[in-house]
Amino acid sequence: MGARIIDGKAFAGQLRGRVAAAVKRLQAEHGVTPGLAVVLVGEDPASQVYVRNKGIQTREAGMNSWEHKLPAATSEADLLALITRLNADPAVHGILVQLPLPTHVNAEAVLNAIDPAKDVDGFHILNVGLLGTGQKSMVPCTPLGCLMMLREQLGELSGLNAVVVGRSNIVGKPMAQLLLNESCTVTIAHSRTRDLAGVCRRADILVAAVGRPRMIPGNWIKPGATVIDVGINRIEEGGRNRLVGDVDFDSAVQVAGAITPVPGGVGPMTIACLLANTLTACCRAGGLPEPE
Ligand code: NDP
Repeated sequence: MGARIIDGKAFAGQLRGRVAAAVKRLQAEHGVTPGLAVVLVGEDPASQVYVRNKGIQTREAGMNSWEHKLPAATSEADLLALITRLNADPAVHGILVQLPLPTHVNAEAVLNAIDPAKDVDGFHILNVGLLGTGQKSMVPCTPLGCLMMLREQLGELSGLNAVVVGRSNIVGKPMAQLLLNESCTVTIAHSRTRDLAGVCRRADILVAAVGRPRMIPGNWIKPGATVIDVGINRIEEGGRNRLVGDVDFDSAVQVAGAITPVPGGVGPMTIACLLANTLTACCRAGGLPEPE
């Protein structure tokens, strides 16, 4: 018996379609076009690919898209000045600063300079606090995409045992918070966790956000569990480059009830959720009803 494969690519396509339809309605009924500004500092190749894809998909959804590409040597003051300009621009509803930033820039200071209402990545401390207290906030895109897939698979999540492996501010912690808000019993595991295998085996929902190729084998997974693999790891195998997750897919698929593949699982949902967040920010800015 094999697990159901959760098709993140198809699910993300549907979400993007709903966002594009809502953008059309906003334009027709209110004359407003949501706009997303993405800021990239430096020339990290992976970041360049992400930013390009974000721009393409933003435009495809009918939104305005601006890309601000700054040299790696850009000072923190210049970056903050750009954020101030974008905060003040009424055509810009969402601002995303691509991470990682060069080490001479204080990333926290930059993220916290973004107007929380335009913080479509949900990393501003105000949004983190709102999420932590169960209030309406901007929710980080990757965990939001994971939650949407979990809800679609499982319906009601209340009472389920959820284990999140990884405690980063961008994935692990907000994921755990979202699952707690859904009334799951949540365990956050990390590099100091004792008996990680035993912890994982108790999970009805297992979210892996570690960054270690195939670290979680099938025999760590509870039979029938829903497995969400956030990891994106580039490895060389059989003389070619491959993308693999944090879960050993081939053994996990034998045990799990449902599982996201890598690629084609969580990854496509992240940008789709960024578009959804930009639409939400635009509606909130205009005092308009928010999309479902
Ligand atoms: P970080 O490196 O910030 O965090 C990794 C976490 O994994 C840390 O909390 C760390 O623990 C924990 N960890 C490391 N080694 C172990 C171990 N041996 N056992 C248990 N826990 C361990 O990574 P991110 O959260 O930013 O990203 C995680 C993965 O998700 C990466 O592969 C990244 O590429 C991917 N990613 C995918 C996205 C997508 O759109 N699909 C978006 C963002 C990230 P500790 O805190 O103790 O050090």
